[in-house]
Amino acid sequence: MTPLPAFADNYIWLLQHQQRLLAVDPGDAQAVLQWLAHEPDLQLDAILVTHHHADHTGGLSELVQATGARVYGPALEKLPVAHTPVVQGDEVLWGALRWQVLDVPGHTAGHVAYWAQPEGESPLLFCGDTLFSGGCGRLFEGTAAQMLASLDTLAHLPADTRVCCAHEYTLSNLRFAHAVEPGNAQLQAYEQHCLALRGQGQATLPARLGQERDINPFLRSREPAVRAAIAKFTGQVAQDDAQAFAQLREWKNGFK
Ligand SMILES: [Zn+2]
Ligand SMILES: [Zn+2]
Repeated sequence: MTPLPAFADNYIWLLQHQQRLLAVDPGDAQAVLQWLAHEPDLQLDAILVTHHHADHTGGLSELVQATGARVYGPALEKLPVAHTPVVQGDEVLWGALRWQVLDVPGHTAGHVAYWAQPEGESPLLFCGDTLFSGGCGRLFEGTAAQMLASLDTLAHLPADTRVCCAHEYTLSNLRFAHAVEPGNAQLQAYEQHCLALRGQGQATLPARLGQERDINPFLRSREPAVRAAIAKFTGQVAQDDAQAFAQLREWKNGFK
């Protein structure tokens, strides 16, 4: 599995099965085609799309034209190419994998994620711009309650799930996480680990879901320490989980 860098901080995830290649959220066709040029035996035959934003879909037309790959994407969103629409409960069969589709609205209205359990390996999750390591996507089209429910769905996946996020936002997310939970020792250790990886020019991803539950404030917005930090920042006690989550997200939006 390869996180192929694109634009400033996107990753196009590539997955290989025998001679076949799967790509996720190819915002940039050239990045994928150049990679394929070094792998002449591989055939790009399937593309998974999580949501409609251009940095995830900009390469679709060119890639479909060049390779004939089949595209799967959210039923509730418009994509620039014909695609097989998928919603929660659908399965996408590819190679030996059975991708389960999860509805995770919030960042966009129809955002989906793909989860699979390869035999003998830890599970894989492609979650686009919903869950990032140490953070979550901005609420462009959905409500805080929707995003909280979507993150709850993802948080209940197996702890050893490899979380393949679509952006390398980890270090800036962890700076914010640290401001929320300065006493979280696991967070500090994880931040050191990620700083070292980035120092070597390596991706911090995939993340581990179990680790994210321990360090990601957006998966921890019901924790007393996180609630206290939110209340301290806003000067008021949130009325419910969704309001606390919304306040946490707003705090992050303005965080420098
Ligand atoms: Zn997006
Ligand atoms: Zn994006």
